[in-house]
Amino acid sequence: MTAAVIALGANLGDATSALQGAVDALTQTVGITVLAASPVFETDPVGGPDQPVYVNAVVLLEIELEPLALLRRLNQIEEEWQRTREVRWGPRTLDLDIIDVAGFTSDTEQLTVPHPRAHQRGFVLVPWLAVDGDASLGGAKVTDLARNVDVSGVRKLNPELRLVIAP
Ligand code: ATP
Ligand code: MG
Ligand code: MG
Repeated sequence: MTAAVIALGANLGDATSALQGAVDALTQTVGITVLAASPVFETDPVGGPDQPVYVNAVVLLEIELEPLALLRRLNQIEEEWQRTREVRWGPRTLDLDIIDVAGFTSDTEQLTVPHPRAHQRGFVLVPWLAVDGDASLGGAKVTDLARNVDVSGVRKLNPELRLVIAP
């Protein structure tokens, strides 16, 4: 069993349903156990064109899959939500990124782990800390990384929304 951290994001269509749908799909995947999910955050877009606000969350997994097989499954779930890629960092129905996999690094275009931009993203670090206050990434404490990042555009939904992890 290997620990993995996934970031979820969406800003087109029923974005919160997409996040919940992704958690459900992960839960139903052989070789994946969803251990915990952060609350859902509303976040101002970072980079890319003018676009709607996002919802973001982070989920903690235990995987018995190879990281590349996990990536393929994430891409499959994105496709089930009609994810398209027209503009880099453009609006999307669902984005599922691998942030970290315990004991694993990869530096290819297809799969870079730890995720090369996670350390500078409030929309990843803040939800991650909400579900794991002791998290670390590439040898740094996520609390320390978050101190050097603008997190002003990251807001917990009110009322708080929690993703359900079905048994
Ligand atoms: P960003 O990576 O900056 O968050 P993005 O999520 O919008 O951008 P996508 O269009 O979802 O980018 O993915 C582009 C490619 O990134 C995918 O084809 C995938 O193979 C590759 N990729 C590399 N590393 C990762 C990773 N850690 N998690 C998910 N995809 C990755
Ligand atoms: Mg992404
Ligand atoms: Mg992605």
